[in-house]
Order: sequence, then structure tokens, then C-alpha cells
Amino acid sequence: MKIRVSLATASLLQLKNYALKANPTTLYFLLSGECKGDCLYCTHRKGYLSRVRWPEFDFENVKDKIKKSDAKRICIQCPYGEEYIKMLEKVVREMGNEKPVSVSITAISKEEMEMLYDAGVERVGIGLDCATEEIFNRWKKGVPSWNAYMKALANAKKIFGNATCHLIIGLGESDEEAINLMKKLSRKGIKIALFAFFAKNVTAVDLSRYRAMQIARYFIEKGKGKFYFDDEKLSEMEIPYFSKEAFITSGCPDCNRPFYNERVTKIYNYPYLLNDEEAKKALKEARKYARIYIASE
Ligand code: SF4
Repeated sequence: MKIRVSLATASLLQLKNYALKANPTTLYFLLSGECKGDCLYCTHRKGYLSRVRWPEFDFENVKDKIKKSDAKRICIQCPYGEEYIKMLEKVVREMGNEKPVSVSITAISKEEMEMLYDAGVERVGIGLDCATEEIFNRWKKGVPSWNAYMKALANAKKIFGNATCHLIIGLGESDEEAINLMKKLSRKGIKIALFAFFAKNVTAVDLSRYRAMQIARYFIEKGKGKFYFDDEKLSEMEIPYFSKEAFITSGCPDCNRPFYNERVTKIYNYPYLLNDEEAKKALKEARKYARIYIASE
């Protein structure tokens, strides 16, 4: 059997010789095969996911390398299609329980999730991607409905005790819509993995806006922060303190997705803890977008 491996993971596992600017702390895999979905923003057909390339390797060889790796988590991306869940189950079982396993899936059934749970999956990430049903219908084609995704998120939380929802900023949502969705999911104990929309080889969302949304996500998940809008655009937020962790890649524990949706020269999701200079710059960038009141300042 063959499996696709992200270029950075392949380098970390010494399957490829590619210079790494930041080590992935999670090993990223993608099941081989065509996705039956047709989401308009997705680059899967071109052999990519976002801006990442996924060369194919022999699974037996990959399994050996995983055992020797000290990465903290495994994440397996699963294309949409009936045949993939059985394949996913097999891959998870064969990888063993060396490390916690996340699977990145679409809206699968409760029974399929239970099967993955029994196989040893620790948590699932679900690619809702869109902040509202209207945006979802505009972008996500050939996959289950918005309601099916919402149900899948609720089932995931019930079955695994945790769940992660992928949300892309830049698909046409307003700030208020994105923040409302984050609040709604967070109240249900679902974590948000924030992505920046990547299209035509560039990150197509303004960095200042993204920085502000990163801060919002960080405090929403902590049940803190107040957000004010002007015509659905975030105009002001009140946060209790500043944390550079707001700008680190979010999602499942130890998932850092290095340069998944951006070039190394203009980082959106930091795959490592920022230094003071980087953190200062990131906060300044967010302040270009909205007024930010920090209580501890
Ligand atoms: S947040 Fe990261 S580890 Fe979790 S499902 Fe998404 S890509 Fe995988």
C-alpha cells in the first residue's frame, strides 16, 4: 500500500532530503486517491493540500520511520469518499499506538466515527472550513451538508471527548460571523484550527485581519474577551492580557502545520513560539486592524 506524506514530514522522517525551516511537531499523512468532493478552494486535485505537496511512499517503509521519530502526534488527512473510512481504519491500526492520532475528515456518520475510535484514533478534526451555512454552500461542493458537518462535530465531541473544527479565514465571511461561529463551537468544547485562505499561490487574507482573528480565537477558547463590531467588522476588542501564544498554529495539541498556508517570509500561523520581537510585531499588526484594549497594560 502507498501513502502520501507531507513534504516536511517526509524530510523529517528522512524519506526526502528537503531543507526544513521549522520541524513539524506532528507527522502529516494523506490517504492516496481522488477526493470525491469538489470544494472550490481546495488544491487536492493538483497534488497539494493548501500549499503543501504530498509525495507518495511505500506504507511499510513509512511505518518503520514513524517508530523512530520523536514527533508528538500523527495526523492523517482523509479525502471524501465512501471507500476511505475503511482504508483510514486500516492505516490507523497498522500505525499502532506509538503516538496520539488525529484524523482530518469530512462529515462522516456516528458509526464510522465509533469504528475510528475503536481503531485507536485519539481525536478528529473536521473541515467545516466556512463560518456560515451560506458561505459553506458557496464553496463546498459534492460533500455532505452544513447540518451534517454540525452533527458530525457534535458526534465527534461525544465519542472522542474532544474535537477540532477547521475554519478558514478569507472565504468571504465577516468578522462577526467568524467570531460567532468560534464562540458557538467553543461553548460546546470544540477547538478551532484557524487557517488563512490560500489561493492562486498567495495567502489571500490580509495579515492584520488574520492577526486580530488569531487573538480573538485565543481568548474565545479561554472564555474571555469582549468583541465589538462596526457593520460586522471587528472594530474593538478587550482582552485581559497579551499572549504570544495567540499567534501559534491552533488546532489539535502539538499540531504546528509549518507553512501550510503561507510562505516562510510572511508567517500567518507561527509553527513555533515567537520571540519577543516577532510577538511585538504581530500585536502591532493586529492593532492596525482593530482597537485592542489589554487590561493588564
Ligand atoms: S488541527 Fe492539525 S492535527 Fe488536528 S486534524 Fe487539523 S491538521 Fe490534523
